Amino acid sequence: MMSYDKNNIFAKILRKEIPCNKIFENDHVLSFYDLNPQKKIHALVIPKGEYINLDDFNSRASDKEIVALNKALTEVSKILGISTENGKGFRALTNVGDHGGQEVPHLHFHIFGGEKVGKMVE
Ligand code: AMP
Repeated sequence: MMSYDKNNIFAKILRKEIPCNKIFENDHVLSFYDLNPQKKIHALVIPKGEYINLDDFNSRASDKEIVALNKALTEVSKILGISTENGKGFRALTNVGDHGGQEVPHLHFHIFGGEKVGKMVE
């Protein structure tokens, strides 16, 4: 099992060493816009705790953290006006590890919307 890299870019954002364009924050979660948007709306939702990926999160995080991250996906989609309640829907996804195409080794969910997101995988 690889260990958490405290110098990854999202760890630096959490420590406020580098800025982000914040959308939402609570005790367990931070959400901000992706620097290189792949769709009209492209947000990221991350846990504040040091978790490498979804597997690491689900094996070590508390139930509170797990619920908070999951609920934040819907909360953020509402803030962005792309939920099924106040918009036309979105896609939430997380890349896990090498084959998943994960680049930043801190768990993050992508939220895409604001237009048809398109083909599920390339
Ligand atoms: P992944 O390939 O799933 O690890 O996604 C990493 C995402 O982080 C990419 O969509 C990048 O555009 C995004 N990203 C990298 N650095 C930053 C940053 N400083 N602020 C916001 N998003 C970033």
